[in-house]
Amino acid sequence: MPRTHASLPRLYVEPDLGQDTPITLGKEQSLYLAAVLRKTVGDTVVLFNGRDGAWLCRLTGDAKKAVVLHAVEQIAPQTPGSDLWYGFAPLKTERLDYGIQKATEMGVGVIQPVLTQFTQVSRLKHERLVANAIEAAEQCEVLSVPTVCGEVTLDRLLDGWAGEQGSRLLVLADEGEGSSSPLEALAALKGNPVGLLIGPEGGFSDAERQRLRAQPFVVPVSLGPRILRADTAAVAALAVIQATIGDWR
Ligand code: SAM
Repeated sequence: MPRTHASLPRLYVEPDLGQDTPITLGKEQSLYLAAVLRKTVGDTVVLFNGRDGAWLCRLTGDAKKAVVLHAVEQIAPQTPGSDLWYGFAPLKTERLDYGIQKATEMGVGVIQPVLTQFTQVSRLKHERLVANAIEAAEQCEVLSVPTVCGEVTLDRLLDGWAGEQGSRLLVLADEGEGSSSPLEALAALKGNPVGLLIGPEGGFSDAERQRLRAQPFVVPVSLGPRILRADTAAVAALAVIQATIGDWR
């Protein structure tokens, strides 16, 4: 789809968007527009909410704590959110922020933190993860923000997979898999709902790998001859998935 209004700021908002609807932004977004970007009455920005597409909106009030805008015209129809599920063992702080942002840019629809035996963190600040997903969605011009789930243990994920994920197949980035190209294995999944699982910096334990590889819905793949850092592996795996069976068409 051709990029339009690429130079305008894009903000994710909760309220409905429609012809002439007034939208009043919260304090944080108002400060960003009015104080940081120095937008004033008459300036335009793009708003999206994950339901109504992207709307060109004009500032009708530029108070630093409550900017008011009016929706002028829809500039992109809403597209369905991504069906790509992404599970990962959360890393510490900045790398966790980075991981959420990159997964969003790579087009995932669901982000599922998975606690494994060697996962470095146990408690996550969910609102921080959501804020990273929103920021990345605004930047990469998608029209919906991925759903960020609360953390689950690997055992709980596998126990509930069939009931919760139906026929979805789970691509396992398995560093123990002999070095090979994942393209063939991925191409065979075309047309199926898929997910990707990336392990922690310390990798999956032997018992975890054994349990994962025994699942009928798990498709182990190699990401080549080198051991990639978890955040590198995530972007590499998402790229080959999007390029072979995803939305990079
Ligand atoms: N156990 C190793 C270690 O401690 O360095 C590898 C862990 S690796 C840093 C983190 C995760 O990235 C792995 O669990 C796997 O999901 C993925 N990964 C990294 N390199 C990979 C490769 N060559 N093939 C498949 N997956 C890989």
